Amino acid sequence: MEFEDGFAAEKLFKQGYSYTYDDVIFLPGYIGFPVEQVDLSTKLTRNISLSIPCVSSPMDTVTESAMARAMASVGGIGIIHSNSSPSVQAAHVRDAKSHKLPVFCAPPIFYSLSDRVCSLSEFSSSPCILVTTSGDSEDQLVGYVTPARWNLMSAGERNLPLNSYMLNPPEVIPWDADLEKVTSYFEKTGAEIAVIKKDGVIVDVVGREDLENLKEYPRLAGQGSVGKDGQWLVGAAVGTREADKERVELLVKAGVNVIVLDSSQGNSLYQLDMVKYLKRTYPELDIIGGNVVTMSQAHNLIQAGVDGLRVGMGSGSICTTQEVCAVGRGQATAVYKVSSIASQYDVPVIADGGISNSGHIVKALSLGASSVMMGSFLAGSHEAPGSYEVQNGLRIKKYRGMGSLEAMTKGSDARYLGDKTKLKIAQGVVGAVADKGSVLKFLPYTMQAVKQGFQDLGYQSMKDAHDSLSTTLRLEVRTGAAQIEGGVHGLISYEKKSF
Ligand code: NAD
Ligand code: IMP
Repeated sequence: MEFEDGFAAEKLFKQGYSYTYDDVIFLPGYIGFPVEQVDLSTKLTRNISLSIPCVSSPMDTVTESAMARAMASVGGIGIIHSNSSPSVQAAHVRDAKSHKLPVFCAPPIFYSLSDRVCSLSEFSSSPCILVTTSGDSEDQLVGYVTPARWNLMSAGERNLPLNSYMLNPPEVIPWDADLEKVTSYFEKTGAEIAVIKKDGVIVDVVGREDLENLKEYPRLAGQGSVGKDGQWLVGAAVGTREADKERVELLVKAGVNVIVLDSSQGNSLYQLDMVKYLKRTYPELDIIGGNVVTMSQAHNLIQAGVDGLRVGMGSGSICTTQEVCAVGRGQATAVYKVSSIASQYDVPVIADGGISNSGHIVKALSLGASSVMMGSFLAGSHEAPGSYEVQNGLRIKKYRGMGSLEAMTKGSDARYLGDKTKLKIAQGVVGAVADKGSVLKFLPYTMQAVKQGFQDLGYQSMKDAHDSLSTTLRLEVRTGAAQIEGGVHGLISYEKKSF
């Protein structure tokens, strides 16, 4: 029997209000399957599939190679920012793709046989120093020294060259060995260290401790995002200036899998021309256009040939665009409206910005998005660029908008063509976020929470979610009091632990 209860999305979003995720709440559906049967696999673009709907934002405090590698290893994807020279950005793409293990450790350090180690800090945070004949990574590997061994040595011994106390060279593990194979190697041999080689070059060094740490993480949420080249899927952002065409060329040579045209307002002559140029020049390369928040912006980019759309203007946690420029849209409305047109052309939508909990992800996907792009949600992780600082007893990492004065000043040569007389107006702020640990740990938990949300709504898959949007899904707007009631309230104190 059908009851008149709650609003269909079409009716709710027709009323002239700009709704954010927190403004709306979904009415539960029917649970007819266990949560394990919820499948979050999805499409990032027309031709790229992911096993979890998560994308890290192209921001210089969010995505460089370590984040891209971690995102791909849990089944999502990272988009390398462009606030650096094209060669540095391409090097990040190459680096992320040249690893296979989801282990987060420092890059290998190489010394020669005659070198000496003078202090513990020379190990940096690497599990060992590798010794090759001349100290070059491409030379023959002849031994290694761990910080633990060096620490136990007397002052006299530490004055000797490495060849007098190094250990025999560690075993070489092939580049494409998966985590299980590497773990069984350590279990079988009792080794402390192994190195990973790709095309004859050492790209990684893995310590037993790295693997022990990984064991404490939940089983990885997805299969890992691997492209046709057998390497991690990695994306990169570019702008819409003439010089960005050369940038794309370098990125393509580095093996980039998808390009994001990074702009707050994607419905521009510059972006439409760039989309057409890129689709003509690299027909095999998927292009994500944006950002857009209206059906007409989206329609223009779809007509130009984009393979995915990035949605959100003014919804980011560091964003001042709505305040400065008076344009944008509440993110729930933007995602719904853009998805309603993009779905007619089979162009997947990425809901970008404003994600601060798993509920927001459930809402974005239920309103038609195929994935979510996150900045602040990931910026406090180990894998985000930058180091932790302690502020009022709390470990924090810097997180800044790409339109903040600080970020613009760093990238100003490219964005303003070196013209220091151009007036810069900030549309973002510089801030900080709390330490969240490793993406490899908290994203699988977050995905489990999203699966529970899907189960409550009665969705077993992304297709179920998108089909229900125009049929069975019912939602309502929450009053201010309902929003307070929907959070923890009325307690003198509490501790909030999500997992
Ligand atoms: P942008 O490069 O699109 O725009 C900067 C300026 O350059 C605009 O005035 C644009 O019209 C102009 N421009 C672009 N291509 C041009 C060309 N070929 N010739 C002449 N002029 C050209 O970048 P943006 O919108 O300022 O965004 C900068 C960064 O900040 C991006 O990383 C973006 O994601 C982020 N941002 C995002 C939001 C959001 O709400 N999602 C808001 C503000 C900033
Ligand atoms: P968050 O996940 O809410 O922190 O939002 C991240 C998103 O904010 C990014 O993916 C961009 O779309 C957007 N963004 C990045 N830098 C800026 C900025 O300086 N001003 C406004 N929006 C920004």
